[in-house]
Amino acid sequence: MIPRFRSARLSLKNSGRLAAAYLAVAVFGTVLLAACQGAASSSNASGSGERIRVVTTITVFADIIRNVGGDLVDVTSLVPKNGDVHTFEPKPADVRSVAQARLLVMNGLGLDDWLAKTISNASSSGTPLVKLAVDLPGVALLPGEGPGTQNPHLFMDPKYVELYVDRIAAALKQIAPAEASRIEAQAAAYKSRLGELDTWVRDQVSTIPPQDRKLVTFHDAFPYYAREYGITIVGVAVNAPGQDPSAGYTAALIDAIRKAGVKAIFSESQFPAKLVDQLAAETGTKVVANLYDDALGDPPVTSYEAVIRWDTQQLVAALR
Ligand SMILES: [Zn+2]
Repeated sequence: MIPRFRSARLSLKNSGRLAAAYLAVAVFGTVLLAACQGAASSSNASGSGERIRVVTTITVFADIIRNVGGDLVDVTSLVPKNGDVHTFEPKPADVRSVAQARLLVMNGLGLDDWLAKTISNASSSGTPLVKLAVDLPGVALLPGEGPGTQNPHLFMDPKYVELYVDRIAAALKQIAPAEASRIEAQAAAYKSRLGELDTWVRDQVSTIPPQDRKLVTFHDAFPYYAREYGITIVGVAVNAPGQDPSAGYTAALIDAIRKAGVKAIFSESQFPAKLVDQLAAETGTKVVANLYDDALGDPPVTSYEAVIRWDTQQLVAALR
């Protein structure tokens, strides 16, 4: 009894010091907890924490990734707006961007394969790399420019971009599992907008007389769009961007344009218009305002959805 009493008295006597000690532990604990939460939020990129640095090859993908990741991501495109991904050469600043990335996103199928070299130069082989167009389930690929290659421009079909969105969402959820439900909600909202975009394009193209649904562009970015919406690609001015077509190739194209009775030839924003102008002059067709495909541009073409809307509007206006 007595020792217990003594001990109680001792405690009472020292209660001031004990309270201070408890307070110190409590404060330390709070600081520790805050530190843990800080670490968790930076690794999960939640709330006010650090965003996930995503580096991608083209501005079109950067926009799609921002729609899926919202303010969880900080996205950089290596090829600038109005830039040409096919002839792009990464600079030292691009290597630094890649080295700092927590997620790398490319298309593959030959569109942006230069990223592989940039990754090895940045010594960031351990960073997760998403190839958006490679081995997509249920996609029938169309032939590319060379033998045995596939056309990489799947993203010109909003239906395929819904599959891109799934891949991006899966990669972000791996990095930030605590944010899975938020990422899923953002991906679902964006996919629903892509569905509306698809319906809108279908309605617009249906206003072009069927015999006039024919397309000639500078490079071969539209075959998936054309297949989805029932448009025939009569030809492209260059088979491989960055290389001048042979005289024989251009002569055959001129022949095909005349035979098909193509109403208009479309130039694209990131390429010189000279060759397309020459084709139009030779065939008596008109050249129509810039289309967008591999790169975003100035307003109003500052998002993927805007690219598809803009291009569709140009087609309809020229061919209807
Ligand atoms: Zn392209």
